[in-house]
Amino acid sequence: MRTNGKDLNRNLLTDRFGRTVDYVRISVTGACNLRCTYCLREEDAPARPVGELDTAQIKKIICALGKTGIRKVRFTGGEPLLRRDLEELVAAARNTAGIESVKLTTNGLLLERRLLSLLDAGLGGINLSLDTLDASKFLAITRRNEFEKVRRSLDMLLENRGVKLKINTLLLRGINQDEIPAFAALTRAHAITVRFMELQPFDDHQIWRTGRFMGADMIREHLYQAFPDLEPITGHATEHYSYRIPGHLGSIAIIPAYSRNFCSRCTRLRITADGRLVSCLYHHESIPLMPLLQADATEEELRKAITDAVIRKPKDGRNSGDGHAVSSMSQIGG
Ligand code: SAM
Repeated sequence: MRTNGKDLNRNLLTDRFGRTVDYVRISVTGACNLRCTYCLREEDAPARPVGELDTAQIKKIICALGKTGIRKVRFTGGEPLLRRDLEELVAAARNTAGIESVKLTTNGLLLERRLLSLLDAGLGGINLSLDTLDASKFLAITRRNEFEKVRRSLDMLLENRGVKLKINTLLLRGINQDEIPAFAALTRAHAITVRFMELQPFDDHQIWRTGRFMGADMIREHLYQAFPDLEPITGHATEHYSYRIPGHLGSIAIIPAYSRNFCSRCTRLRITADGRLVSCLYHHESIPLMPLLQADATEEELRKAITDAVIRKPKDGRNSGDGHAVSSMSQIGG
C-alpha cells in the first residue's frame, strides 16, 4: 500500500514511491579526531563546534522518530566518541518505544576505554572505519599518528564475541589495495564482516580527482586473485557483492557506493550534528529541527517535520539531485 507519509495502521513511514523509511543515521558531532585525506582538510572540523544538538534535544528527536516509524538508529559523526554523553544517548535510544536496534560508526580511536560501557548501554553493533593495518599508512591516510590506539580497539573488538562487528575499509588505488588479503584474512577466525568501500566524490577539494578511485569490479578482481575459491553469498542490500572464504567464520562484502545507484532501495533519513533533517544525500534541501527544538516544539510538531521530510524524499536523488547535500561525509556522518 502506498501512502504519502505515515501509515497510521502499521506505524510505517512510507514515501511517495513505496519505500519504507525505517533507518536514521544521527551525526552527534561534526568534530573529528582524524583528518582522513579523502574526507577532511587539516583545518576542517573544529574541536568544539558550536550549534550542535545537546543530549536532551537528541533524545527528543529519537523519541519522535521511534513513534513515527523509525526502527534502527546509527550514531555517527564527525567522530561520535568525542561526545561524552554517547552511552547516555545509546541507552536512551535503546529504551525508546519503536527503536529496535542501536549501532555506532566510529574510527575506533577512543573506543578501547568505552566499549564495555557502550555495550552495557545497549549498543547492538559497531562499524569500525579502518583503511589500513599499517601504522605508517595510517598516518599518511588520516594525518594522525594514532594507529596503535585503533589497533588496540580492533583487538578488543575481535576478542569480544558479544559485538556485532563490521570493518569498513575504503579502498584507494595505489594506497591500500595491497591490503585486501590482510583485511579479508581477519574473517578466518572471527565472525565479522569486512566491507570494502568505494570512494565517493564528497570532497570537492581533495583526492576525488587524483585517480585514487577504485571501483567495485577492480576490488572484486583483487579479491579473487588472492582467494580464488571465494564463495558468493547473500549479504545486506547495500552489500552488492558478498562472499565467504571456505573455512572462514566471517564474511566479506563490497559496497559499490559510487558505481551503483541504491536510491530505489534507500530507507534512510539523516540528522546532521546541528539538527538538520536530510532525506537524501544528493539534495541540498533539509528541514532544520533546531528552531523547533528551541521553541520547545511538541512531539507532534517534530513528527510532522519527520513525515514532511519523508514525503519530500526524491525518487532518485543521485540522478535528479542538485549536487551533494554536503562537501564532506563528516558533515553528515557517512
Ligand atoms: N568518524 C566516524 C568513522 O570514521 O567511522 C564516523 C564518520 S566517517 C565520515 C564515516 C565513514 O565515512 C567512514 O567510514 C569514512 O571512511 C567514510 N567516508 C568519508 N568520506 C568518504 C568519501 N569521500 N567516500 C567514501 N566514504 C567516505
